[in-house]
Amino acid sequence: MSDKQKKIIVAIDGYSSCGKSTIAKQLARAVGYTYVDTGAMYRAVALFLSRKAQEAGKAELLNDTEWVERQLPAISIRFVRVGDGQHVTLNGEDVEAQIRTLEIGNRASQVSTIGAVRRFLVAQQQAMGNDKGIVMDGRDIGTVVFPDAELKLFLTASPEVRAQRRFLELQEKGEQPVFEEVLRDLGERDYRDTHRQESPLRKADDAIEVDNSNLTREQQTQHILDLFNKCIAQQ
Ligand code: C5P
Repeated sequence: MSDKQKKIIVAIDGYSSCGKSTIAKQLARAVGYTYVDTGAMYRAVALFLSRKAQEAGKAELLNDTEWVERQLPAISIRFVRVGDGQHVTLNGEDVEAQIRTLEIGNRASQVSTIGAVRRFLVAQQQAMGNDKGIVMDGRDIGTVVFPDAELKLFLTASPEVRAQRRFLELQEKGEQPVFEEVLRDLGERDYRDTHRQESPLRKADDAIEVDNSNLTREQQTQHILDLFNKCIAQQ
C-alpha cells in the first residue's frame, strides 16, 4: 500500500480546555498532517456577528437566528501559516488575537447552537478533509463532520484541571482572570455544548477516550502517537 492510500482522518473531540488543540497540533506536526482548529472557525463567526451587532447597536441580534443566517454568506474564514503555527483570518483580516478572549469564546459557544451556523461551517470542514491527512479538533468531529474517521479520540480531564489550564492561558495573554469565574464559565460552556439540540458534544461510540488529568504532556503525546501508529498499521 502506498503512503498516499494510508492517509487517514483523525477526529479529536472533547470539552473546553482539555488540551485538544495542543495535542492535535503536535500530532499533525509529528505525522505531517494538516491541522484544523474548528473552534477557531466558530470563534471567527462569533467575532464577525458581534461586530455587526455592535455596529447596529443591537446586541440582541446575536440571538436572532434569521438575522444570523443572513450574515453567513459575508463570512470567509481561512487558515494562514505564520511561523510554524497558523492564524485564522476573517475576510482577509488576521483575527487570531481577537478570537482568543473569554468573551468571544462564550459568544462562540452561543452562536454554535444555531443550526445554520453549524451547517455553514461543517460543509467547509468536510471539504477540508477530502484528501484525508488531516487532524481536526472540535466538539462534533467524530459524530457529525467525519463519522467515518479512521481514528476518533475523545479527550477528557477534570473540570478543576481544565479551569486551571484555562486560567494560566488567560494570564499568559495578559488578562486578569478569577479562578472561580473561569471554573463557572467552563461549567456553563460544558452544559451548553452537551445540551444543545444541534450536534451536542458527545463521545462517538467508536471513539477512544483519553483522560489526561494525570498525564504529562509527554505521556499524552506518546499515547496518542501509539494510537495513531496502531490505526495506520490496520489500514
Ligand atoms: O474549542 P474552542 O473553545 O475554541 O471552541 C469555542 C466554542 O465553539 C466551543 O465552546 C463550542 O461551543 C463551539 N464549537 C462547536 N463545535 C466545534 C468546535 C467548537 O460547537 N466543532
